[in-house]
Amino acid sequence: MPAITPQPGIMDIALYEGGESKIDGVADVLKLSSNENPFGASPEAVAAVAAAAAQMHRYPSIDHAALRRVIGDVHGLDPDRLILGVGSDELLTLIAQAYAGPGDEVLYPVHGFSYYPIVARAAGATPVTAPETERRVDVDAMLAAVTPCTRLVFVANPANPTGTMIGADAVARLAAGLPDRCLLVLDGAYAEYVDGFDGGAALVDAHDRVVMTRTFSKLYGLGGLRVGWAYAPRAIIDVLNRVRGPFNLSNVALAGAEAAMRDRAFAETCREINATERTRLTGGLRQLGIACDDSFANFVLARFADEAEAAAADAHLKSEGILVRRVKGYGFPEALRITVGRPEDVTRVLSALGRFRGQG
Ligand SMILES: *Cc1c(COP(=O)(O)O)cnc(C)c1O
Repeated sequence: MPAITPQPGIMDIALYEGGESKIDGVADVLKLSSNENPFGASPEAVAAVAAAAAQMHRYPSIDHAALRRVIGDVHGLDPDRLILGVGSDELLTLIAQAYAGPGDEVLYPVHGFSYYPIVARAAGATPVTAPETERRVDVDAMLAAVTPCTRLVFVANPANPTGTMIGADAVARLAAGLPDRCLLVLDGAYAEYVDGFDGGAALVDAHDRVVMTRTFSKLYGLGGLRVGWAYAPRAIIDVLNRVRGPFNLSNVALAGAEAAMRDRAFAETCREINATERTRLTGGLRQLGIACDDSFANFVLARFADEAEAAAADAHLKSEGILVRRVKGYGFPEALRITVGRPEDVTRVLSALGRFRGQG
């Protein structure tokens, strides 16, 4: 036994597996494995990052006031109830650190985002899953899984990797049904893709124990810059600011995110193209006999006959230079998660899968 050992739970953490990004010997890889924006970031964000680079010897803002103001303007939210993190991942970590510990349970749906058990264990708490029904979050099953130890509940809506969504009534029923000691975190990483959806902001306003997290990594195309935000009751923002590193976001990241949020036209165009191409991808898959649910995000979960067929489809896509995501670790050995790409990317995926199914 080494003399220096980490806190209980840390060595139970399974390392996060990201989407693959390389295929040996292939130069023109089409990466559809991490739900990134296929159009990249807004050119205005790219220019803002370049300009901010000249100031990188300066420490960044501690309070992120400028970016919080822009987010508040765009979303109609009180900037004093916003907090910025190094991706929404950091905010999930801070929430778990502040609100869960040894003996506490952190509850999430069984096919939920694989980062939830990581933040639970890192905080010394115990991850607990509730069953889903037909790849959808099941509010009754979630409520039934609550125990006296449950302190934190994570739900992504739309969900990853299923792409499914539950309605505002269902989420409201979950929030109302949880005991007062439970904090509900609504992970809105894909909320931007749903026209007119507030990501749960109204529920945050209606309760004193609901938090919404959002990200610049998906629709805004800033996954590599690492910026996320959360909207929460003032008391919870105050707690999270105490555990947040004062300089957690670089001035480069702050500048890029601010410009990205201001460029409404770019975001709207990306959202519209995603919706069109998602419909085409879903329809094309079904035409090939590959099952998939309607997705509300920027990816589709393609379900094959079994694990062997999913593995063969993945291998075939790779042979054509296309990377998608195996989701066995999410409880879907028979499925592949495919990010919605540009129109030509969707065509390339469907043609490749057509050849795989012998229909090309
Ligand atoms: C991508 C994703 C996130 C966002 O991660 P960032 O740290 O903001 O890049 C959060 N939750 C879910 C469910 C996701 O798929």
